[in-house]
Amino acid sequence: MSSDRAAARAPRLTLVQGDITEQAVDAVVNAANSSLLGGGGVDGAIHRRGGPDILAECRALRASHYGRGLPTGQAVATTAGRLPARWVIHTVGPVHSASEDRSDLLASCHRESLRVADELGARTVAFPAISTGVYGWPIEEAARIAVETVRAADTAVEEVRFVLFDERAYAAFAARME
Ligand code: ADP
Repeated sequence: MSSDRAAARAPRLTLVQGDITEQAVDAVVNAANSSLLGGGGVDGAIHRRGGPDILAECRALRASHYGRGLPTGQAVATTAGRLPARWVIHTVGPVHSASEDRSDLLASCHRESLRVADELGARTVAFPAISTGVYGWPIEEAARIAVETVRAADTAVEEVRFVLFDERAYAAFAARME
C-alpha cells in the first residue's frame, strides 16, 4: 500500500495552532527524550503543566523497563496528571541527521504512539511536531512524514490533532494536509 493512501480505519486529521498542554483530548503525545526524565520544549511544558505525577510514573517506567532509556521511535504511556487529557504518550524522536536518513524512526514515533493509544482505548490524540525543536528536523519534512504516517495508520483512534506551536509549523502541516 502506498504510504500516501488512507488506511481502512485511518483517523480524521485536524490542525490547531497552540499549546498542546491545553488540549482536552484522550491522549497527548510528548516529544520526550530517551531518559524519560523531562527536558525542554514540549517535554518541559507537559511536565510543568501536568505536575509531578507524570515524572513519578516516568521514573517507575525507567526502573521497571527502560533502565537504558526508551529507544528512539518507541512510545510508552503514563497518566496525564493535571493536564486536561487522560494520558501522555511519551515517544522519542530521532535527532535529524544530514548524512543518514532517519525518516523511518520519525514515522515509527507516530505509528507506535497510535499503537499505544489503541492499547489505552484513546479515541482522540494530539501530536506536537516531533523532532522539529532541539532535534533539528526541517519542519516541512517532519510534516510530510507525520501526515503520511498517520494517514496510513490502521487504528481505532478517531481524531489525530496536530498541535503546532508557531505559525511556520502550522503552515507546513496545513500545506501537507491539503
Ligand atoms: P524535539 O526534541 O523532539 O525536537 P522540542 O520540544 O524541542 O522536541 O520541539 C518539538 C516541537 O514542539 C517544536 O516545533 C516546538 O516549537 C514545539 N513545542 C514546544 N512547546 C510546545 C507546546 N507547549 N505545545 C505544542 N508544541 C510545542
